[in-house]
Amino acid sequence: MNTVFTEHSYDVVVVGGGPSGSTTGALLAEKGHRVAILEKEHFPRYHVGESLMPFCYFSLERLGVLDKMKEIGYTQKLSVQFVNMDGNRSTPFYFFQHRDHPSSYTWQVERSDFDQMLFQRAAECGAETIERFRVTQFLRDDSGTVVGVKGSGGDGKEMVFHARVTVDATGRDALAMSKERWRERDPKLGKIAIWTYFKGAKRDPGLDAGSTTVAYLPEKGWFWYIPLRNDIVSVGVVADRDYLYSDSREPAEIVAREIEKNAWIKDHLAPGEQFGEYWVTGEYSYRSRYCADSGLLLVGDAFAFLDPVFSSGVFLALKSGEMAADAIDRALGANDTSASQFEHYGAELCSHIETMRKLVYAFYDDNFSFGNLVRKHPDIRGDLTDCLVGNVATDFEKLFEGMRDFAELPAELDYGFKAAPAAIPVAKAAAV
Ligand SMILES: Cc1cc2nc3c(=O)[nH]c(=O)nc-3n(C[C@H](O)[C@H](O)[C@H](O)COP(=O)(O)OP(=O)(O)OC[C@H]3O[C@@H](n4cnc5c(N)ncnc54)[C@H](O)[C@@H]3O)c2cc1C
Repeated sequence: MNTVFTEHSYDVVVVGGGPSGSTTGALLAEKGHRVAILEKEHFPRYHVGESLMPFCYFSLERLGVLDKMKEIGYTQKLSVQFVNMDGNRSTPFYFFQHRDHPSSYTWQVERSDFDQMLFQRAAECGAETIERFRVTQFLRDDSGTVVGVKGSGGDGKEMVFHARVTVDATGRDALAMSKERWRERDPKLGKIAIWTYFKGAKRDPGLDAGSTTVAYLPEKGWFWYIPLRNDIVSVGVVADRDYLYSDSREPAEIVAREIEKNAWIKDHLAPGEQFGEYWVTGEYSYRSRYCADSGLLLVGDAFAFLDPVFSSGVFLALKSGEMAADAIDRALGANDTSASQFEHYGAELCSHIETMRKLVYAFYDDNFSFGNLVRKHPDIRGDLTDCLVGNVATDFEKLFEGMRDFAELPAELDYGFKAAPAAIPVAKAAAV
């Protein structure tokens, strides 16, 4: 057995150095708090999720990385477009037509270097960034308050990091959700995704060259087509498990079979060559029962994951990272890091997620199409675009009312916005 050989003490320990963890860590370090970010991998590391939403701009601006983004020269994403199985395209939703602002020119990013850039930014802001360190356990004191973490580095030696606040930013590994059994699957959004990469595939001309395309398949399945740098395209198929595995469980065969079903995808991929692995993921769309515990806060995918059809993942990771940094800064300032300090954070984040979730439910409804929605309600095209760009602080009631003409929208989930109930101190618990 390894022995604990060293202990460290911080104001905040962030577990996971993806977009949500690096954002939380960078902003707290910038405010002068002692922060460590512990990441199990070594950057650059592969990650899916390349298509950004325009409103990522404001988090990236606050992080001070916009110049860096421009310098790297990612593919520019000016719109999202929807394509029927027969290959007919909807009019693209050009973000700049709705809002004349730099945020309307967003990006398709390779996550290996995008995430590395944010991790490095956190270090520049003063956070201690530690790679190849896997956290295995949250530490609690007698009252049940989380007081840090334990884990081990590449050399296998165990270490303890004490902190006044611990942030779970472990993405879909979702450490707290797994340890505490807080994971609740979305009642309806149980899809799986298979994806891979092509080189030399076709790009649309002009403004549409970097557009995200959502191309429909039978039974409300869909392809994503995300043009990246170096003539590479990220291509994925998302659908119900029974549909995708109907006659094969071999990812390459399934993707090849589905390509034949959408004329636009078939045409665009024809000159391209697939390379590298096929990736598969299930466990779609979940949320944690609680957003926080005493001394612990959940951010990004470690708190909730929503079907990626509208590319909301990185946006919500950055946004929750910002919101978490602000909530933790206030809690540290008030010298009160109890769970109740984080309820406002949970309520606000859940309300943003619910907005996107309604759009996702509508997308999967048999009776819904964006074309029909904007033909019947041309006045809500602006609200719809606001939703698609991530302007989640808007009042969308009129949009939702219009959407209800075509789709059944979900009731809001009654969990996730509250912190875990206060733990019963060990001594009292023993006396009960
Ligand atoms: C199929 C699919 C397609 C997607 N497409 C898009 C898209 O086009 N656009 C979009 O915006 N989003 C997309 N997403 C979602 C997006 O990838 C995530 O929402 C986003 O990466 C969340 O960021 P995060 O920082 O919360 O988690 P992550 O980016 O997953 O980062 C978590 C980090 O924690 C580390 N970690 C985990 N466990 C530990 C541990 N125990 N100790 C230390 N470190 C640990 C991991 O190594 C990782 O670096 C997609 C997701 C999927 C599954």
